[in-house]
Parts: sequence; C-alpha cells; structure tokens
Amino acid sequence: MTAAWIDISVPIYTGMVHWPDNPAVRVERIQDLSRGDAANVSKLELGAHTGTHMDAPRHFLADGAGLDELPLDATIGPARVIPIAHSQAIFPEELEAHRLRAGERVLFRTKNSERCWKNNQFVEDFVYISAAAAQYIVQRKVRTVGIDYLSVGGYVHDGVETHRILLGEGVWLIEGLNLAAVKPGTYELICLPLRVVGADGAPARAILRQRSLGKQARQDKTRRKGEET
Ligand SMILES: [Zn+2]
Repeated sequence: MTAAWIDISVPIYTGMVHWPDNPAVRVERIQDLSRGDAANVSKLELGAHTGTHMDAPRHFLADGAGLDELPLDATIGPARVIPIAHSQAIFPEELEAHRLRAGERVLFRTKNSERCWKNNQFVEDFVYISAAAAQYIVQRKVRTVGIDYLSVGGYVHDGVETHRILLGEGVWLIEGLNLAAVKPGTYELICLPLRVVGADGAPARAILRQRSLGKQARQDKTRRKGEET
C-alpha cells in the first residue's frame, strides 16, 4: 500500500504574509469570463521568496549559483522530518541527538508549523536556525535543509550569518514549509522551485509521502535486530 502525498507548501493568495521588506503578494484576474472575456487569466505579483520557496546561493553570494542550477536530486528523494523542541532557535546541542548524515535532506518541524501560519501577521519571533547550528549542519555535510517559516535565519539574530554559512557551503534551502500535518520520520520528498533564470529564490511546491509500508517495516525490523545484539 502506498501512503498519500501530503502537501507541505503554503497557499499563495492576495494579502498573504510575506517578509517585511519583500513585495506584497497580489493575484489579480486581468481577463475574466464573468466580464465577457474569452478566458480567465491572472497576473501574479510576488517576491521570489514568497510562501514556500527555495533560496539559491546567489541570495547572499554575488557570484553564487542561481536556483536554475539546483540539481533535481537535492530536493527529490528521502528526507527526514526532525522535531525541534526549543521554542526560540535550533542549536547544535539539540541536533546532536539526531545524528545528521552526509548528503541527507532534513526538514525541521518546529513550533512554527502550528503557530505562525494561522493568520497573515508576520511573526518576528519564529524559531530559526542559529548560526552555531548552521555551522554544525555544514560540518555534518547535510545537503538540503527545510524550515517551517519564511527564513532559515532569525528576524533579529543570525539572519545574515545563518544564510551565509549554509549557502556558502552549497546547502540547498527550503523555507516557508508547513509541517503541521507531518509526524517526525522519514519520507519521500519532492520540492520543485520555478525555473527562473539566475534566480536568488523561487516559489516551490513541496510534498511528502511516507515511505512504502513494507520498506518501513523492513527497516524497523533491521533496527530492532541491531538493538538486540
Ligand atoms: Zn532565506
């Protein structure tokens, strides 16, 4: 039996929350069947870092790769959803227990998922990745990191530092996820940002699916065996 896909991207609509100095979001019908036009056609006005989106190295590094250079397997494949208990930020001490592995895709499920997407007010004190945790993630050679609000770095602290550390080492970043419907564990991830040439960022659709039950059961069995010996 195959599990259902879970949409972990947030809806895009006029007036939705956005980073304070980024453009407001507007979805406008410029041709409309109800006004006698031959078709419905909408115009999208939005920043590259709207809602669920990815950051490219170019976001913080002048000569960094654009998002159109994203290798597709950075965001398609197994990913681990890691629960974060700390209510302010992610620190290395909390990550150590999760034994991050080289090449892994990890998505951090913080209190943001439940708290920050409830309305369109920008939340300043969202849980972010501290610069120290960013260093730790880079040391562990993690490939792709996801966070459940609009930035990997904080609004007041470590906004620039965390981005520079992660993007500087080529870690691909997914921001603006909503993981409220997802339990910690291992999933299949598909996250595809728009192919905008040279982009510093681009909106993305991101979905997760629990790995096939047979496979999961086999892994659990193997793990139990390992624990017994
Ligand atoms: Zn960012």
